[in-house]
Amino acid sequence: MPNYFSDNTDILYHFEKLNLKDIVNIAEDEYKQAEQFDDAPVNYEDAMENYRKVMEIVGDITGNYIAPRAAKIDEEGAVFENGKVTYAKGTQEALEMLSKAELMGMILPRRFGGLNFPTTIYMMAVELISRAEASLMNIFGLQDIAKTIDKFATEEQREFYLPGFSSGLYTGAMALTEPDAGSDLQAVKLTAYQDENGNWFLRGVKRFITNGNGDVLLVLARTEAGTKDARGLSMLSCMKDDSIIVRRIEHKLGIHGSPTCELQFNDTPAELIGTRRFGLLKYVIYLMNRARVGIGAQSLGISQQAYEEALKYAKAREQFGKPIYNFPVVANMLIDMRVTLESNRTLFYNTCTWLDRKEAYEDLIEKRKSEKLPFNDVNEKFKEAQRMTNFLTPTTKYILSEASNKMTYDSIQIHGGTGYMREFAVERLARDARITNIYEGTSQLQIVAAAGSVINDVLADYINDWEKKEYKGSLKKLKESLMEIRVLFNDALKYVKEKKDTGFQDVAAKDLVELYSYIYTGYLLLDEANDDQRRVFTAKRFILDSLARSRKNAESIKNELYSDILHADTILI
Ligand SMILES: Cc1cc2nc3c(=O)[nH]c(=O)nc-3n(C[C@H](O)[C@H](O)[C@H](O)COP(=O)(O)OP(=O)(O)OC[C@H]3O[C@@H](n4cnc5c(N)ncnc54)[C@H](O)[C@@H]3O)c2cc1C
Repeated sequence: MPNYFSDNTDILYHFEKLNLKDIVNIAEDEYKQAEQFDDAPVNYEDAMENYRKVMEIVGDITGNYIAPRAAKIDEEGAVFENGKVTYAKGTQEALEMLSKAELMGMILPRRFGGLNFPTTIYMMAVELISRAEASLMNIFGLQDIAKTIDKFATEEQREFYLPGFSSGLYTGAMALTEPDAGSDLQAVKLTAYQDENGNWFLRGVKRFITNGNGDVLLVLARTEAGTKDARGLSMLSCMKDDSIIVRRIEHKLGIHGSPTCELQFNDTPAELIGTRRFGLLKYVIYLMNRARVGIGAQSLGISQQAYEEALKYAKAREQFGKPIYNFPVVANMLIDMRVTLESNRTLFYNTCTWLDRKEAYEDLIEKRKSEKLPFNDVNEKFKEAQRMTNFLTPTTKYILSEASNKMTYDSIQIHGGTGYMREFAVERLARDARITNIYEGTSQLQIVAAAGSVINDVLADYINDWEKKEYKGSLKKLKESLMEIRVLFNDALKYVKEKKDTGFQDVAAKDLVELYSYIYTGYLLLDEANDDQRRVFTAKRFILDSLARSRKNAESIKNELYSDILHADTILI
């Protein structure tokens, strides 16, 4: 009876270490919600105990109910017939089970039937779901749509949409992409117009919309006729009806359980969410930042399973008279995988906590403003959390999604020829992983998003503090390695800045973002190793490997590796 939560010592380690005190205190209105709702916690310990119980349920459902259905869901996939989308049988069953367990409104307020959980705990659930069946996460993870409605809609709109999400009656979709507007969402053309009574309608086409057959759609649309940029775009919501035609669903490499729809809106009645013209500039940014963290969780879940499959196979498969696990080369690959998994999880839950802080402080500021109370103290904390999430969200999505591709690749390698065959789960995992560094913004766009923070050295104060800190025994030497990475980073950054060439800077940004992430994750791991002997292994391999990579990254920049881009037309024949 596997339990994906309580069997996973690394997740448990992070769960035990979580410090969500401030966040839960704000979300629970200083625990006053307990006076109103029976299931609300009376203090922080009570809240954590409740999260643990729910995570154990998620661990049980994912390990025993969802994972056994994954292969069949992949084989069957979502089906499109006579204009109608039908989920695979296993997807339907899994969604019913998750609804029955009251997990479809984890991050929604209690007054709308939700659990009012922090994002960090929700993301833990997303990780487990993704491990069990990656494409199910694409539907389960659409809770972020409900969260966006909760954040920006009117109370009337909340009352209309949110209870249906919490009960599992509604699923959602986020309709942004169009044939000519992918990475560049400013180019969105789908039109929203008003009739003489001020009612909104949508007309146009959206492409690649996950769960576009869902009940509640959040649509990015051009409300300001004659505009061509982001300032003409607004966010609208609409319910599924006959005016929305699903033209097709895509035949994809992976995530077969998740229908990817092309939608045609034929004068679909809609409602404005929030303020006009802020569709992309504010609401999509909010939604997308959460969704990016969700893809981080999906990548991590896939990586965990890829590792599990590789380890199990390596112990069972014998060649040359012994398990392949006993060959140092195979053991080395497995250790690489394990260290990637653990270091990524450390970065991931750190990112989640910062995102939670940012949102909690923002909510508190709004509350204080509405009560005409001072909020300067919270504003400082909010700004800091915002600075951190601006760097961490795209960086984490980039690192974890690329890693899930490498992890599944290595897992197939450890399986040898068997890994290439449909009968083994790792083949599916590799196909599912391939989308993670494409949707919710490609890796290239994550680098663009993170680059500003890196160039402005936003982590400088944190790194300075870490450099002053005392570490035990062998960790002292590892700290010196991290200090060396910082020197390499500073030199490379100086070189890029002095060159004053935006093209060069665009290409070098990937090396810089990676260098910066090595320093940050390295110190997080060093802190963990300072308190936990086993984690010294993880810290050591991560930091020494990062140092080697850092030298490469810095040299690529300083040796002008990329200068030949000027001659692209000559080289690319
Ligand atoms: C399975 C699936 C599900 C999806 N689900 C949804 C959904 O639910 N809702 C939704 O709205 N969208 C969804 N999408 C769309 C997805 O977000 C886009 O595919 C993605 O953002 C990339 O856009 P694109 O495909 O148009 O690629 P393009 O933007 O055409 O990019 C092509 C290549 O050019 C690179 N590139 C583009 N611009 C730059 C730049 N400025 N700098 C450097 N490189 C650049 C990209 O990195 C990429 O390598 C989904 C896509 C897929 C495949």
